[in-house]
Amino acid sequence: MSLTNAAAAQTLLRDDDREALLAIFGERARFDEPLAPYTSWKIGGPADALVTADDEAELAALMRFCLRRKTPWWIIGGGSNVLVGDGGVRGVVLQLGRDFAAIAVRSEDDAVIVEAGAAAGMALITAKAASAGAAGVGSLAGIPGTVGGSLRMNAGTDREIGEFVRCVWVQSPSRPEPHAIDVRYFYRRSSLERDVVVSRVTLAFPRAESRGVRDEMQTRLVRRKRTQPIALPNAGSCFRNPEGAKAARLIESVGAKGWREGGAEVSPQHANFINNVGGATARDVATLLARVRRAVLDRCGIELQLEVHLIGVFIDAT
Ligand SMILES: Cc1cc2nc3c(=O)[nH]c(=O)nc-3n(C[C@H](O)[C@H](O)[C@H](O)COP(=O)(O)OP(=O)(O)OC[C@H]3O[C@@H](n4cnc5c(N)ncnc54)[C@H](O)[C@@H]3O)c2cc1C
Repeated sequence: MSLTNAAAAQTLLRDDDREALLAIFGERARFDEPLAPYTSWKIGGPADALVTADDEAELAALMRFCLRRKTPWWIIGGGSNVLVGDGGVRGVVLQLGRDFAAIAVRSEDDAVIVEAGAAAGMALITAKAASAGAAGVGSLAGIPGTVGGSLRMNAGTDREIGEFVRCVWVQSPSRPEPHAIDVRYFYRRSSLERDVVVSRVTLAFPRAESRGVRDEMQTRLVRRKRTQPIALPNAGSCFRNPEGAKAARLIESVGAKGWREGGAEVSPQHANFINNVGGATARDVATLLARVRRAVLDRCGIELQLEVHLIGVFIDAT
């Protein structure tokens, strides 16, 4: 390992930081914890600390800890849109647990209202909302991950989650208590600052007949199964669609389907997906992403932009 790599791999937490985290979170603070199991790609080196906050008070305590000790932190939800570097993440990686997984669905006039903690899974939210007749929820069906991550990404298909948001609560180091904010939504991104954690969300859908909504959702899930490699570890679409074009078509047009680097492969089924077909590292995926991007730029004159978020240290792990 070079000197630079050695420095990048060195923990940022002192012994007293670890003791303070243990005092608040007990066994929900894990140190030098490999992140691969927490991502859909099953890739990623260790976090100095992986901390699960179970409620808003604990999240506020962690935000205060990070501010006071100037500790860098990241949040991961379902890990379905992140590539974590092989060198891991310095500082604290935060996940939301227990209370943040709650979902409540109710009817209000002609609307279906979903109140959810940010760690609630999109699969459960969309299923419950569909049963209550939430029109339009089919556009969000089959998106893995949490509602918090989906909000930051403005996840969706032909319609996006931002269209259905009524209220968003966040917590941050500078304002640790939960508070509502206005968020703007764009194609696969939102105006949420990097240093806020979404803790709660209210979604509102027009109410329709539930059978029709459920049927539409089922049709979309079946189509997804047919067109996407959902059984393999990946992070969905790697690149955003450029204005007026489809990233998958461009990638396919340069013949990249099936290209491999180590354990990473451009999906033969959907060219914008990169699968971990066995033991892929972040380096393999990053190399393949760069190769694909270069080929599309050279042959199509279009510079693809990443949709997946890169987190942590991208160095050789050994
Ligand atoms: C098979 C497959 C299919 C997919 N299909 C789609 C699709 O059709 N449409 C689509 O848009 N996406 C799709 N995705 C991508 C991904 O599922 C979405 O982007 C999802 O919304 C990410 O949620 P997550 O909880 O996994 O976020 P993560 O991957 O954990 O995080 C994504 C980003 O959000 C941040 N974040 C996470 N939680 C919070 C929070 N509580 N507060 C603030 N920031 C947070 C993270 O720091 C990171 O920057 C697909 C992925 C897979 C694997």
